[in-house]
Amino acid sequence: MINRYTVIGQPIAHSLSPVVHQLFGEHTQRKIKYTRTESTTETFDTTVRDWIASGGRGCNVTSPFKEQAVQVCDRLSREAHRAGSVNTIHLHRDGNLVGHTTDGPGLVADIVKNWRYPIADKRVLLLGAGGAARGVMQAILKQSPSMLHIANRTAEKAVALAEIFDDLGAVSGSGYDALGELDAFDIVINATTSGMSGTMLVLPEHLMNAGSLAYDMTYAQRDTPFMLWAQQHGASTANGLGMLVEQAAESFLIWEDVRPKTRMVYPRLHEMLG
Ligand code: NAP
Repeated sequence: MINRYTVIGQPIAHSLSPVVHQLFGEHTQRKIKYTRTESTTETFDTTVRDWIASGGRGCNVTSPFKEQAVQVCDRLSREAHRAGSVNTIHLHRDGNLVGHTTDGPGLVADIVKNWRYPIADKRVLLLGAGGAARGVMQAILKQSPSMLHIANRTAEKAVALAEIFDDLGAVSGSGYDALGELDAFDIVINATTSGMSGTMLVLPEHLMNAGSLAYDMTYAQRDTPFMLWAQQHGASTANGLGMLVEQAAESFLIWEDVRPKTRMVYPRLHEMLG
């Protein structure tokens, strides 16, 4: 029997998740089939229900549906409940749809383990307050940064998000205009979709320096506008390919009960991204 999974998003044609999961399946000798599914805000709930009704065992959820996915699930993991964000839905053997968020462990594994850049005691700035930003908050705070600031185009969302997690550390939120008053950050994570439209966020010049790491959750063939901007300011840069792989491994573990080794998928992905 083949276990079927999909990733639901808008747009979705660019997603490398099917490649990653197919490779995980081959390496763990699990028979899986993983596809892409496009949806809309209006049809998202039906898309998930139809997928499960047609025999799907689970799905990943990506931009812009991670917050909406919370409502589709019958129950949530503790992390997904607190974050208000779901990127992995699993059809449990009791028939319920269980929502999880694996973005946080994925991001932290990539920064700390793959890039060997500790988060502990660092000043961290998170750009964006959508589903991905919500999903990574707990995992970042678990690493004990000296502070975590969230900046978002819609400032109220950043402030509200900071309040949800303010018992876990020094967390604050604002719009982009307030960044001018803050000192430089050691790690700046771009969790916005601005790069998808080729737009560069308007950021103050002093935000990063030579020791900083600028991490863009987006992955693409070329360095994103955010990464290019950070390089001009002396920072090291990374894109979200490693996060994609690490969060996928966590999803695979939830669905298939085995965490695949992640290193073996990179050559194929680099080949595909040119
Ligand atoms: P989302 O829920 O749609 O949130 C979008 C965020 O981007 C919001 O904070 C939004 O601000 C902001 N934004 C959109 N356009 C903007 C612009 N022109 N200028 C400034 N801010 C803008 O999306 P998401 O699920 O959080 O995903 C965010 C990004 O992370 C996506 O590119 C996704 O592919 C990527 N991601 C990658 C991985 C990975 O494994 N590598 C995992 C998760 C997410 P407002 O609130 O003001 O609208």
